[in-house]
Amino acid sequence: MEGFCRDCGQLHLVAAETQEEADEIATARCDCENEEKWHRLMNANVEMLCGEQSREMQLQPLCNSGIELVKRTCELVRANVIDKSKVNIANSEITITRKNDKIDIKRVKKQTNQMMI
Ligand SMILES: [Zn+2]
Repeated sequence: MEGFCRDCGQLHLVAAETQEEADEIATARCDCENEEKWHRLMNANVEMLCGEQSREMQLQPLCNSGIELVKRTCELVRANVIDKSKVNIANSEITITRKNDKIDIKRVKKQTNQMMI
């Protein structure tokens, strides 16, 4: 059936049961580039890396202002305002840089194992 990309409205022929599902597949399949799509992907990725979902990767979730900071920094790096940003937060180090025309977010957990006997 016909699915429409939610970002650019482009038509894609997809195999789906409902219109909603068709639009979802069309949006995922569409290779259009626009700000809205970038923001949605960025938000989803930051939530995964820094929000509640990060517990699954044995990371400590950031507070809301921390998450906002990371998202804002991604935008500023993308807008060429910031070249690179490194933040120490929630027992980890988050580095945001530009790689070609993509934004690279890396979160490294600070882990120290020490024993005194
Ligand atoms: Zn599209």
